[in-house]
Amino acid sequence: MKVLVMNCGSSSLKYQLLDMDTESLLAKGLVERIGISGSFLTHEPSGKDKVVIETEMKNHTVAIKLVLDALVNPEHGVISNMKEIDAVGHRVVHGGETFTASAIVTEEVMQGIIDCQDLAPLHNPANIMGIEACKSLMPDVPQVAVFDTAFHQTMPEASYIYGLPYEYYEKYKIRRYGFHGTSHKYVSQRAAAMLGKQPSEVKIITCHLGNGASIAAVNGGQVVDTSMGFTPLEGLVMGTRCGLIDPAIMPFIMEKEGLSAKEMDTLMNKKSGVLGISGISSDMRDIENGIKEGNNRAKIAIDVYAHYVRKFIGAYAAVMNGVDAIVFTAGIGENSISLRAKICDGLQFLGIELDEEKNNVRGKEVNLSKDGSKVAILLIPTNEELVIARDTKELCSNK
Ligand code: AMP
Repeated sequence: MKVLVMNCGSSSLKYQLLDMDTESLLAKGLVERIGISGSFLTHEPSGKDKVVIETEMKNHTVAIKLVLDALVNPEHGVISNMKEIDAVGHRVVHGGETFTASAIVTEEVMQGIIDCQDLAPLHNPANIMGIEACKSLMPDVPQVAVFDTAFHQTMPEASYIYGLPYEYYEKYKIRRYGFHGTSHKYVSQRAAAMLGKQPSEVKIITCHLGNGASIAAVNGGQVVDTSMGFTPLEGLVMGTRCGLIDPAIMPFIMEKEGLSAKEMDTLMNKKSGVLGISGISSDMRDIENGIKEGNNRAKIAIDVYAHYVRKFIGAYAAVMNGVDAIVFTAGIGENSISLRAKICDGLQFLGIELDEEKNNVRGKEVNLSKDGSKVAILLIPTNEELVIARDTKELCSNK
């Protein structure tokens, strides 16, 4: 069975075509600048050379048509006919409280996704455009929606209710949802497998540290708390997002600087975090280089970053009354040797003992803890596309 995985943003889209009989990647690619002049497709067929196709793409339908053409192209294609695509799995950012699992897209499911738009105005509309475009280009192929929020829907009320008047939860559904769910699901299940246990038998803290970053406490295979909240702004200090701050800071800055609510939102989402603290960059590699060059604000940025992650790990060990494994994943978690070391330093009291030599590795599935460490420290490259393809396969096989 061949599954096309789609991750649509407002002006870009990422795709992967997977052969799910062997779980192997046939091709992947990226379209950038959809609806903006200078749009182009970068297509990477497995085992063949990468191609870049530059052409105007005025909307997602045009872009996806180009992707399908690339997939069947006699030279750089990987399938001979579009009919070989058995199903399409779409990443959908927000499923609200409606979706606790992935779902085959029906009219009712589509309406459910549209109803969640209010909760993710920057993301869900693009996801919807992607689904609509695929439906129009492949009307007989089942479409599946896989939600970033779904894996977190097991959280108890104590974790997801905010200390605001309860009526806002009832009226506007303001609560903690959590994001990066497919990643937390994948790495927590891999972690259990690496420990030789069932997910139901273990307590795991998963640290998804990328440009966006979140942590989840996964107890017995179910999320019991996570650091992102109503939106992906809460929790850790991220590349450009401020994470957890005193909410009273918002009206204070707005008043002092004469900012509108929208401008304040942009400041917290796009100009804060590692970028805002360091003044150099949101990219951890630039920050690490800045420190080597003696830049003090780069050092502060990394210290704050590590402090927040360490603080959440401690909190989640308390939430679960123990922890069997810490998982590092995503761009920073998989690649930053120094940051992993910095985060773990000071957690020895919990039985978290990093082996410095084993830690000298990037992007491989490996146990980094010292022999005899009570808690395993696991490096697990995430694979959100594979989770989407697996869910799609499972739902479509049972049809
Ligand atoms: P992601 O959003 O998962 O793609 O992660 C992006 C983040 O990973 C950026 O902050 C990058 O700086 C960081 N990253 C990627 N490679 C490395 C590396 N070799 N060392 C440190 N950080 C890295």
